[in-house]
This record gives sequence, C-alpha cells and structure tokens, in this order.
Amino acid sequence: MVWYCGNKKVEPAGSSLISSIDDSEAGECPTPPVEKKSRKSSQTATKTKKNTRCADRYDREVTCVNMALVTLIVLMITSFLTWKYGLKEPQNWEEAQEGFQDIWAVTSDLWTERDIGSFLDVLNGRDNEGYDPLLRQAVPWDNDYIERDNGGLHLTLQNALDDTWQAEFEIAVDDWRESDALQLTTERVTVDNNCNTVDGVIVVCNANFGDTGWVGINERSYRRGFIVSSVVKMNEYYLGDADFGHRRYVMCHEIGHGLGLPHTDENPDNADLGNCLDYTFSPDANMLPGDVNMAKLRGMYLTRIFRRVKEDGIVVETTQLLRR
Ligand SMILES: [Zn+2]
Repeated sequence: MVWYCGNKKVEPAGSSLISSIDDSEAGECPTPPVEKKSRKSSQTATKTKKNTRCADRYDREVTCVNMALVTLIVLMITSFLTWKYGLKEPQNWEEAQEGFQDIWAVTSDLWTERDIGSFLDVLNGRDNEGYDPLLRQAVPWDNDYIERDNGGLHLTLQNALDDTWQAEFEIAVDDWRESDALQLTTERVTVDNNCNTVDGVIVVCNANFGDTGWVGINERSYRRGFIVSSVVKMNEYYLGDADFGHRRYVMCHEIGHGLGLPHTDENPDNADLGNCLDYTFSPDANMLPGDVNMAKLRGMYLTRIFRRVKEDGIVVETTQLLRR
C-alpha cells in the first residue's frame, strides 16, 4: 500500500502492494495500518544489520588476532631454529657473533666458488672458450667417487702420455696429492694420442693437436650435472718446445679442471695469484695448486667441519655441514 502525506509518498516498510492514488486519503496522513509492524520489521532489520556488522567486525578481529598469533609463532620458531642450528646455540652475544661469522664464511665460500670472470687468453692460447662453460665454476665429481669422511675424492689418473711428459705429470700429480680431499692413484697405460675417454677416470695424454688456440685442454663428461670422466690434453703444437715451467703449469692447470676446479682469475694482466688455475704470463710463478684451490677441494669433497674456537684456543663446538 502506498500512502500519500501531502506531497510526500509513504511506503510502508515491507509492503509490496501498490495501490492507485486515493484522493480521499490524500493529505490526511493516516497511519498506515502496517506501520507499527513495519517499524518493528525495520528495527529488526536494523538490528540484524547491526548484528551482521558486529559479527563481521568480530570475525575480522578474530582473524587479525589469529594472524598475529601465527606470525608470532613463525617468528619464534624461526628465531629458535636460527639460534639452535644457524648460530649453534650461543649463550651470549659474543658467541652469537661467532655464529654469524660462520654463516658468513659459508656464504662467501659458496659465492667465490661461482668464480665469475671474463674469458681471456691463457698464455698463447685459450683452454676453454667455446668448449665447456662449466669450466668456469666448481663442479664436483659424481658421488660414486666421493667418500666425504674417508679421504674425499678417490680417483685414478690414467697416464697415456709419452715419455717426454712423465716428469711434468708425476710432479703435478704429487702437487695435487698434497690436498687432504684427494686420494689419487696413477696408472700408466699405452700411449694414446687420440685421448679416448674412459669412464670414471682422468685420462692424461699428449699430441700435436695443431694451431687450435689452446695449449692444454680439459674435456669432461657429466651425469646429472656431476663429472663422471675427464680427459686432459697437452698440445705439442705449442708445448713441444716450451720450457719445463710452462709445461708443468699447463699440466697442473688442466688436472685441476679435471678435479672439478674453475679458474681463480681469467685476466693474465692481473697480479699473479701463485696458483696454477690463475691465467698468467708467468707460469713459473704459478706452478702449484695453491691454498685457495686446496680449500675449494675440501669444500667440494670433504664433510665440512667448522670449529668455534674461543680466544683461549679451546675448541668449544664442532658442527658438520654436508654439501649435498
Ligand atoms: Zn683453464
């Protein structure tokens, strides 16, 4: 029912009926018979609306409280795990700092192993450009060849070199044997100028490969991203008449790649680093594996052990970190 009060149209709440305009009722402003009921309905509707809003607000508040609680619990768990496993349960601020230093050491070690640099010539040739991009980063041998708690990488080097290379080979292998992460065995086999690959070993050979642009090269095969065979080639074209230091440097360098190591620097104009994986114009100053590569080999092939040593020199804790 639609009511008119003067010019004002009154429509009872809840009424769905529409009548024609009744002149007798116009201007009298009668109380619509359903007004009370309508007001009640209206009040109820308002109440319900209010209740709904309150319920919504309550739900939102409950949700907010729940989220805050979950966040707090996550923060507490994260803090506990960081304290226990990351920082190794420090009891005071000094020990916590030592823990942070350990984490930093691991992080920076992993970063330096990426060994990103520019490609430039090594001596009078290149040994990897266009051949194997993985030579630019540390890539370990497959787990089948690694005993992390028993000497690290256990590997055989097959000596397929002719007599003119025996001295360089023996001295380079002995230099790499200084690593506590390597158990290297050598086996002299028939001279192989074709340098055929053999599964599970490093084959070392020599031949005149011509004006290839590389003095020595290392070729590796991978399984699931890890090395399963490697061939080290010495190029007589450049090295046939080279001096001993030059030949020894290249032998050390390519065997180093065979063990999974990347270059330590690829700009020969940079200052010598004193290790054979550094590009250099002074091979005599870079003939040894060097401490940096020994450290990388430990990281690749041994169980990592971090000792927290206090100022008085007492080892207070040992933590093992497996790489993979
Ligand atoms: Zn190289």
